[in-house]
Amino acid sequence: MKKNINIIIMGPQGSGKGTQARMLAEKFEVQIFETGSVLREIAKQDTEVGKIVDNEINKKGGYASWDILKKVLNQKIGEFDKNKGIVFDGTPRRMEEIKYWENTLPTINRTFDYVFYVDISEEESVKRLSVRKQCRENKHLLIVGKDLKEKDTKCPICGSEVFRREDDTPEKILKRLEWNKELLSPVIKYYEGKNMLIKIDGEQSVEEVFGEIVGYIK
Ligand SMILES: [Zn+2]
Repeated sequence: MKKNINIIIMGPQGSGKGTQARMLAEKFEVQIFETGSVLREIAKQDTEVGKIVDNEINKKGGYASWDILKKVLNQKIGEFDKNKGIVFDGTPRRMEEIKYWENTLPTINRTFDYVFYVDISEEESVKRLSVRKQCRENKHLLIVGKDLKEKDTKCPICGSEVFRREDDTPEKILKRLEWNKELLSPVIKYYEGKNMLIKIDGEQSVEEVFGEIVGYIK
């Protein structure tokens, strides 16, 4: 069912928004714009922006500043497939990004059609993140006990090696959640104010969350 729609999907870490983005992409034949993977892809490129991103994110282990992200977005915006919708995962994550998209999307004949917030409690986030592993090649997030067994060493999706992130301790997880919440709360308020925010209970099963999201899409 091809739909040329533009969707924002937000949520705390562990909310499963990435999985929902992939399911939406499949169902409606839309492309995914996922900030994390875009940054990782850019970091591999031997360009000025690529080197800056690699240094800030991979070498310093920080988050992309707005200055850098803007350069990345400017580079990526021309690469969208005109005939397909987009699921935005990981952007907009701050007010500057909202302004950026609001200015640039109309230039490519787009506008945000749906804004979903997949909500889970802090306890649930911590619980989910402490049982997760990641694969090296594609950074697939995998849940121990669900996607793979504790002793498994290969990603069930792409076959590359899996590992547990060193910063996935409860304290560090909580710190990241706080940081994200702080960053995201003005964005949530903004879309609430515009009457566009659709809150989804993320503590249901993956299929139930998806069913609810799809139910809103006309
Ligand atoms: Zn993988």
